[in-house]
Amino acid sequence: MNVAEIRKQFPILERTVKGRPLVYFDNAATSQKPLQVIEALRHYYSHYNANIHRGIHTLAEEATMAYEATRMAVKDFIGAASTEEIIFTRGTTEAINLVAYTWGRQHISKGDEILISEMEHHSNIVPWQLLCEEKGASLKVIPVEEDGSLSISAFRELLTERTKLLSVVHVSNALGTVNPVKEMTDAAHAVGAKVLIDGAQSAVHLDIDVQDLDADFFAFSGHKVYGPTGVGALYGKRELLESMPVFQGGGEMIREVSFEKTTYADLPYKYEAGTPNIADTIALKAALDFISEIGKVNIRTHEETLLNYATEQLKTLPGLRIIGEAQNKVSLVSFVIEGIHPQDLGVLLDNMGIAVRTGHHCTQPLMKRFGIPGTVRASFALYNQKEEIDSLVAGLQKAIKMLL
Ligand code: PMP
Repeated sequence: MNVAEIRKQFPILERTVKGRPLVYFDNAATSQKPLQVIEALRHYYSHYNANIHRGIHTLAEEATMAYEATRMAVKDFIGAASTEEIIFTRGTTEAINLVAYTWGRQHISKGDEILISEMEHHSNIVPWQLLCEEKGASLKVIPVEEDGSLSISAFRELLTERTKLLSVVHVSNALGTVNPVKEMTDAAHAVGAKVLIDGAQSAVHLDIDVQDLDADFFAFSGHKVYGPTGVGALYGKRELLESMPVFQGGGEMIREVSFEKTTYADLPYKYEAGTPNIADTIALKAALDFISEIGKVNIRTHEETLLNYATEQLKTLPGLRIIGEAQNKVSLVSFVIEGIHPQDLGVLLDNMGIAVRTGHHCTQPLMKRFGIPGTVRASFALYNQKEEIDSLVAGLQKAIKMLL
């Protein structure tokens, strides 16, 4: 993989911040976009912008074809059995909410349990809390070990015949931990529970095969896989999606409407009310193609080198503690430096052109578990380079001198 060539495809990487070359290490929040994604957006708006599905004119047909081509690309990207199992959403958050408001309302009742983990993003906590409050169900939480891995023994104890749903993150955005979701899914199925996997952080790094995982639901966001914001997908097993009640009502999701009774469209349109985010959905295909052209295995090899190098280099800094050192990790490092607030480090690094994320990363319960207000998180993508990690380490050395 030629990183220098790849960098040329990301125009934003040429800019400077505060007079320094941009070092972008906030990829877990959102990745930068390659030219082919930007070009797909420009091309759509300048050549075939039209509303999709019911139009019979050429532009509408072209837009519909491109929109549906992305559905096919998403199906292949995550190994789904059919395009009917792919529902476009605004992103992971909306996908999880869709399941909570449809499958959840239909199947969760008083006394039932929903099992999540201590490392969930708020978007995989709050929808279930709302559902539990409404239904009189309870939320159970799998604890996180000191090294940032999930306690699998606790998971097995928490899993009972009362568990109706396991909703768990594939890869933690705050720790980088890769969870053993296939084994967890098998165990959950053995007690009759359904499984939702939050793939917001895994989709960009790992090979996803929802059929092999046997996931009932899988959610991811386009903007974290080098695609545009405002589009993502929910995968659901066909029989589940068919039997679930509708989510939002409106145009597109109907078969026939009368004031007496409305019947609903077939999958996947049943869950896609209103004019969708056509442009960004079309451009998402360009992002998925970009990843497959390079090959996830090549991307992973590069990112692993960066992760190992960063981990090694950061550990040389006095007072630095890495939060999350599980065996199986993706390319991000979360850390704290004794005596310095993560926010202060973030501001100083920004002054050097280095973009990192600081704070709780939408995982407040996890921060509480580690007894910290937040961390500094450097997350790496395929266009990052070792020299940029050197800049981060040099920046932190300076910050330590200034702040301690
Ligand atoms: N889950 C995880 C693990 C995430 O990292 C994120 C995004 N930070 C989300 C869910 C929510 O994704 P989005 O904001 O794109 O809906």
